[in-house]
Amino acid sequence: MQRRPQTRNTHQLQAVYQAVCQSSSHPSADEVYWHVRRNLPRISLGTVYHNLQRLVAQGKISVVLLGERTARYDPTTTAHAHFVCQQCGQVEDVFLSHTLLGIDLNVLARQGYRITAHNLLISGLCPTCGGRRSARLQ
Ligand SMILES: [Zn+2]
Ligand SMILES: [Zn+2]
Repeated sequence: MQRRPQTRNTHQLQAVYQAVCQSSSHPSADEVYWHVRRNLPRISLGTVYHNLQRLVAQGKISVVLLGERTARYDPTTTAHAHFVCQQCGQVEDVFLSHTLLGIDLNVLARQGYRITAHNLLISGLCPTCGGRRSARLQ
């Protein structure tokens, strides 16, 4: 069995990346940790954090804050917004056109802020929880 650190690191990085991609719920580091542990029982939470940071630095995943203090990780790195259901907590990717959103970040740029990213968070009830979909169709 090969024990070179390089090989092990690549293997762990790959496992962490797979865990983020396979989850449909924008997992937190804890959730990624529990998922990865099924295959790599000796991995530590610190190692999972470290690998998540590496993947973010490489641009393979992005960090999302969904109105809570815990960072979540997202395999979709293109610009998109998030819908969070207030009842079931389901997180969905929402792709909206920027002109439609009408957000002018130049205002901040003129005040000397350097914008590196922005996240739009939409809250409400999903179709399952809201039960409004059938009403609207009638
Ligand atoms: Zn819901
Ligand atoms: Zn997302």
